[in-house]
Order: sequence, then C-alpha cells, then structure tokens
Amino acid sequence: MNMENIFSSEIITTLNSLFSDGRCPHAVLIDGGSAEDRQMLSRLTAKRIVCGKGENSPCNECENCRKADENIHPDIITVARPDDKKFFVKSDVKNMVAEAYLTPNDALKKVYIISEIQQMNEESQNLLLKILEEPPHYTAFVLTSQNANGVIGTVLSRVVRLRLGKNNGVQFSENAVEVVKKLTSAVCSPYEYDKIQATASLDGNKKLTAEVLELMVIVLRDAVALKNGGAALAGELNKQSKEIADSNSVKNILDMCDVVCGLHRSLDNNPNYTLLSAVLCAKL
Ligand SMILES: [Zn+2]
Repeated sequence: MNMENIFSSEIITTLNSLFSDGRCPHAVLIDGGSAEDRQMLSRLTAKRIVCGKGENSPCNECENCRKADENIHPDIITVARPDDKKFFVKSDVKNMVAEAYLTPNDALKKVYIISEIQQMNEESQNLLLKILEEPPHYTAFVLTSQNANGVIGTVLSRVVRLRLGKNNGVQFSENAVEVVKKLTSAVCSPYEYDKIQATASLDGNKKLTAEVLELMVIVLRDAVALKNGGAALAGELNKQSKEIADSNSVKNILDMCDVVCGLHRSLDNNPNYTLLSAVLCAKL
C-alpha cells in the first residue's frame, strides 16, 4: 500500500515543502489525528529522510526505502514508553541522546521516531531539548503527540509541526488569537506605533505571552511553508501567515522566527515582561 495516499493532499503538500530545494527537516512534530495515523505519517517522514532524495523521496526503489517499508532499517529507531510503564524511562531518553551522536549505519541520516511524547515527563523532554537545539547534521527527529499540549514550549519551538485533523490540535484562547492578529498586522505595517500597541496588549501576562509566542511561531513557520509552496496549517490564522509571506522574504521570516523562539525560551527564566515586550517590538 502506498502510504502517501492515506493522507490529505494538504498534509502531503506541507510534508513536501519540508523536503523542497534539497532540504531535510531535522525535527518534525506530528500531532492530532489518531495514534495509527500519527504512526504511519511518522514512518513515512522517516522513510523520506533515510531515502535521502529530497523532493523525490521516497523513491520506493532504493535499499533504504525497502528496509524502511519492512520496518528493519537500522537508522530508523523508535523510542517509546515501555508497555508496563506510564511514562518514558529517563535512562532510555539519556541513551538515545548519547547514541544520536553516533553516525548512521546505512543511510546518510538516522532518524529517531519519538512516539507519543505526551508520555514523556518534563525532565526527559528537557534532555531531548539539548540535542534538538544542536543536533548533529546526520541525525533527525520525528516526534508524535496526541496534541501539542503534551510538548513543552521550548521543544515545540524547535520543531516543524505537521498537524493531523482539525480539532485535536492545541486550543488557544481567543485573546491570544486576537493579539497574534494585531501583531501580524503590526509586523507588516510601516508604523512603529502599531507594534507598540500590539505588544502592549500582552500586558505582562505570562500565560497570554506564552500562548502568543507559541502561536506566532506557528504562523511564521506556516509563512515559510507558504513561501516554499507548502500549505498553512494554522486554520484560523492562515490569513496571517499569508500576510507575512506576502510582505517578507524567507530570510526575514526565519529571523523573526528566531527572535520569537528565543523569547519563548526565555519565558522559563521568569523574564521582565516589560523588557520582553520591548524586545519583541524592536526586533520584529
Ligand atoms: Zn528511496
């Protein structure tokens, strides 16, 4: 059976965009949908990575594709919680992080499928974060999760998201969606005042700021996907991704993404919110 036919054309277009221009994603999160769909899409993504033919992957002809289909590829490693445990075992995660630095066996890249990461506690996710921040160029990660709520924000800011289904994704407050709409208009506006006004509505509110930064990352990532011929997946905020894509270069958008991800990471250290708004305002 051809795995590509199971998923919506929107998902496949987005997946294709991750492999366009000879690129290869280093960390993907698949969330929403059913556990079976997530597993299948994670295997398809891993297969494309080990096949290594970019836009033309999977070729379905090479040894890497054959072994991936038979589930015997030595460079596709699945890490999950043991059947008799409620959560991932910390030492398994530690070992994976250590082994991720070893070079692949057959393919040019090795892939760790981290299955259902919502079952990994925060401490272990922080171990994983270390390698997600600076992975060796020959190692990639495909994470699956029931929804993005089970993934810590810093990990979320390091992955490209592929969302299956509509209602299983993370729910954001209406307030956060509104601020993101304002921020997007402000980013695309020549008037400094618009930015000041948009960031002022964060008002030192930690929960709101976290939501807004997380949403902004999604909007910016979708804008990059749109630039590369992919599809935006953020639903309600598709228009915002398009607005940013239309008025910015890919490099600009990636720079903004770095700023927002950096601020999102700094949230863990109880930052000064007035300063954070100022940085957001100055750098976008
Ligand atoms: Zn192949």
